[in-house]
Amino acid sequence: MFLLEPKYKRLSPDARFYFTGKPCKYGHVAQRYVSSSECVECRKAKNATLKDKQAAWAENNRERVRAVSKFLYYANVEAQRARSRMKWAIDSDRVKATNKAWADKNPGIWNHYGAKRRAAMRQRTPSWACMERIKDIYRNCPEGFHVDHIVPLRGKTVCGFHSQDNLQYLTAAENQRKFNRLEESYVYA
Ligand SMILES: [Zn+2]
Repeated sequence: MFLLEPKYKRLSPDARFYFTGKPCKYGHVAQRYVSSSECVECRKAKNATLKDKQAAWAENNRERVRAVSKFLYYANVEAQRARSRMKWAIDSDRVKATNKAWADKNPGIWNHYGAKRRAAMRQRTPSWACMERIKDIYRNCPEGFHVDHIVPLRGKTVCGFHSQDNLQYLTAAENQRKFNRLEESYVYA
């Protein structure tokens, strides 16, 4: 029975790399992949150029990149939301810090979101809304709660009013969970 000596020695029985100490044809003395015998330094260099190429392509095809990421987001929206909820539940301080960092880096867009929200509120404030009662609701908001629009101002299917009858207190977590979606129960309540 012949046992062929392998051309390499794995670093451990299930290792992805091996090492011979001999330079590759570009002179790297580095580990090699068991799967392809490619030198890891050569692979790194290839990946770097590939990344540049991908970045350049993305720069020239922004609309397409945006469409794809939007599609992927909505295809997995429930999973995405579950992930955000989980992150918030585990470490809300970190989420806040991340959001703050993003806002500092993109002040224009951040202000745009705020302005959009305020404009929606203005546009959805009916003439019969009682400002004093609305202010009272905000003033008396208990610690740890948010003032929430029962029917969202910017819902997908229906838009509610910024009025005293459309406000309720929700915990921050509940508010985050609800976001701009209308809970079915409210429609029939
Ligand atoms: Zn190499």
